[in-house]
Amino acid sequence: MEKVRCLIIGSGPAGYTAAIYAARANLSPVLYEGVLPGGQLTTTTEIENFPGYPEGISGAEMMEDLRKQAIRFGTDVRFGIVTKAELIPNKSIITIDGEKEVEATTVIISTGASAKYLGLPDEAKYAGMGVSACATCDGFFYRNKEVIVVGGGDTACEDAMYLSRLCKKVYLAVRKDKLRASKVMQSRVFNNDKIEILFKHEVIGLFGENGVEGANLLKNRGEVNQEEYSIPVDGLFLAIGHHPNSDLFKEYLNLDEQGYIVTLGCTPQTNISSVFAAGDVADPRYRQAITAAASGCKAAIEAERYLIEEGL
Ligand code: NDP
Repeated sequence: MEKVRCLIIGSGPAGYTAAIYAARANLSPVLYEGVLPGGQLTTTTEIENFPGYPEGISGAEMMEDLRKQAIRFGTDVRFGIVTKAELIPNKSIITIDGEKEVEATTVIISTGASAKYLGLPDEAKYAGMGVSACATCDGFFYRNKEVIVVGGGDTACEDAMYLSRLCKKVYLAVRKDKLRASKVMQSRVFNNDKIEILFKHEVIGLFGENGVEGANLLKNRGEVNQEEYSIPVDGLFLAIGHHPNSDLFKEYLNLDEQGYIVTLGCTPQTNISSVFAAGDVADPRYRQAITAAASGCKAAIEAERYLIEEGL
């Protein structure tokens, strides 16, 4: 079985930053990119708040740069999805694509988070036929059409802005009477003529013969003026947050009630001495590219210290 000193799972800002630090510390890291090489940022448009890019940078471009930087210092970046993980101090057994097994002395988990869905049967019924959780991936298919975005956070606002550049009209369904997004994002959607914000609205169903032709909405849930009605739309975009990709590790690691990996204080240390967690999979609070990158750095430093202290 192949043995590696430092195995990194996931290729977002946390994984690549861990790889850069681990490679420069001569840990000969191997990084498996996972289901979405480059992670969630490859599905975002412009990153405007990462220090060092005064003009902003596209998510895909930044991730490609991080990948190149990791490779430059000797990281072995591989295609492959981790399908099983037996986390054991100093000798975790990680299975790739259901076949290959790798023994890892230290493991850095940076598997990120995935988009949440509302849980409506219609989301499954119209999957790939008008339902999407990635505006930048699928927005192109809705040029000059009408769509509805669900959510009131930064992602929802960013998605609504992105779609407004392609679509004829964008509804933004917000379940509360206010947005949770940052003030700058709020003012952008408020000032966009193509976006109509539907406060206190929930999408409760979809209809259409061959794909989505409209959405059923519930307005003012639980109030005397509660009302149900439908609007014609060609697509539904979910932007209601994410859940951490920690399922593979739940047998071994302490998770919080939402499934985030619990780490020790402000360190990336998990309950297994040789296993570290970085980025969104362990961060219910900040979930930013810059904080993910920082925690990847910490994880690599901890892995290096661990190897030295244990004489491994
Ligand atoms: P958030 O958790 O911030 O927001 C989720 C939104 O979805 C909330 O408005 C929430 O409503 C709503 N929601 C959740 N569940 C449901 C449901 N079942 N039905 C209807 N609405 C629902 O997630 P985001 O993905 O927007 O952002 C995550 C983090 O990433 C944040 O820290 C954000 O600031 C950051 N981010 C930053 C960006 C940037 O700076 N450019 C871009 C994108 C994200 P409610 O408010 O009622 O709970």
